[in-house]
Amino acid sequence: MTAWAETCQVFTGSQPLEMKNKMHLVLFGPPGAGKGTQSQFLTEKYGLKHLSTGDLLRAEIKAKTPLGLQAQELMSAGELVPDEVVVGMIRNLLENNPDAKGFIFDGFPRTRAQAEALDEAMKETGSEIKLMLALDVPEEELVTRLLGRGETSGRPDDMSEEVVRKRIREYEKKTAPLKDFYHAQGKLRKIHGLGSIVDITSRLTDAIDG
Ligand code: AMP
Repeated sequence: MTAWAETCQVFTGSQPLEMKNKMHLVLFGPPGAGKGTQSQFLTEKYGLKHLSTGDLLRAEIKAKTPLGLQAQELMSAGELVPDEVVVGMIRNLLENNPDAKGFIFDGFPRTRAQAEALDEAMKETGSEIKLMLALDVPEEELVTRLLGRGETSGRPDDMSEEVVRKRIREYEKKTAPLKDFYHAQGKLRKIHGLGSIVDITSRLTDAIDG
């Protein structure tokens, strides 16, 4: 068994998930689009649980777990960690939060395989993703925001322009095509991601309530 497979075992489970009639949202967009910031407002307004795979991975790094140590190198280089790692984490959290009113997925899914795994996990609960809210922000603004955040966040992947641009390329290549995946299900809502935080929140809530 590979080291990745071993560490992933921790996160996999076979319990049936019981989460019917919930509201699950995917907050989507490139790095720096404002997903984390907006998630805070949306979790509060709708009573949802925020699931950020980036935050979960950074917690693993901080705790120096085997998974964290393996993910750290890829994250610092601006590359995605393997699908089975993040899918295992998400499944584990869904199983451990059966009472949640719903989830906001932030930074997940990022590949077609992750989106399919999420649909599968939702199906097992008799539930589904309600909407994908896709924040749209031009690349130069993303770079400015991320490098600005890097001055205080301490995140190594926010500190170098080369890594920041690499993350944006990864998004364009592997993640942006998921808009088509959700569009085909009638769930894509494009949201203009420039302006004040309050304005963007109200565009998001209009889309959710509409
Ligand atoms: P984020 O905090 O969402 O910007 O994620 C930071 C980094 O964590 C990404 O650049 C990836 O290396 C890794 N990561 C977070 N979420 C995922 C995911 N769903 N799939 C693969 N890698 C991820």
